Amino acid sequence: MEKTIFQKIIDRELEADIVFENKNIIAFKDINAIAPVHILIVPKKYIDSINSLQSEDKEIIGEMFIVAKDLAKELKIDESGYRTVFNTNDDAGQTVYHIHLHLIGGRKLDWPPG
Ligand code: 5GP
Repeated sequence: MEKTIFQKIIDRELEADIVFENKNIIAFKDINAIAPVHILIVPKKYIDSINSLQSEDKEIIGEMFIVAKDLAKELKIDESGYRTVFNTNDDAGQTVYHIHLHLIGGRKLDWPPG
């Protein structure tokens, strides 16, 4: 199977502005940021979409949210507010099939999304 863009970033075959990494997770700036803060939090374990989650993935999904809130605090958007989003499949606009949590903030965000 062809590696995803995010697998190439994990494997250091593609450059990215990495803001956090541990043994389970990598987080880097979105190349096409839609807000002053737009970070992608990606598990190193390959999971293509939320539809493929297994109960054994509970911990990694929880850890992704812990990383999101720690980064929000570090980047000083925890008080002003931010959004955490998983897009799943076509109607939601998923373009990279390696799950990732978007952390978006630093400006007023519209609701509901389009
Ligand atoms: P999705 O649409 O799948 O929820 O989000 C994929 C995100 O990955 C998009 O916001 C897109 O801008 C970002 N992206 C796509 N290719 C790259 C890349 O090569 N580097 C980085 N840093 N972000 C990327």
